[in-house]
Amino acid sequence: MKTTANAGPRCADRSIVPDPDLFFPVATTGPDVEAQIEEAKQVCDACPIRRECLEVALRGGPSTAHGTWGGLTEDERRHTRRRRARSAA
Ligand code: SF4
Repeated sequence: MKTTANAGPRCADRSIVPDPDLFFPVATTGPDVEAQIEEAKQVCDACPIRRECLEVALRGGPSTAHGTWGGLTEDERRHTRRRRARSAA
């Protein structure tokens, strides 16, 4: 599917995200990691497919198990899944 430059995933645009590792911190805590996560979240916040991306990541799968997807970290996605499961019960 052909998309316009503004309609695709922002994380795939190397003029916005030169290093895709931005979305995959090597640690889970610490000021550098927090800054990295915040930067990734800012990219996601302006992404035109954020909602769809997050839903795919919440459904899980190996490709979205780690890192920031749809503006949420791995831990935040886990909490969201639990909250949704409790709401559905
Ligand atoms: S919302 Fe998803 S597709 Fe968009 S920048 Fe974030 S990780 Fe990439």
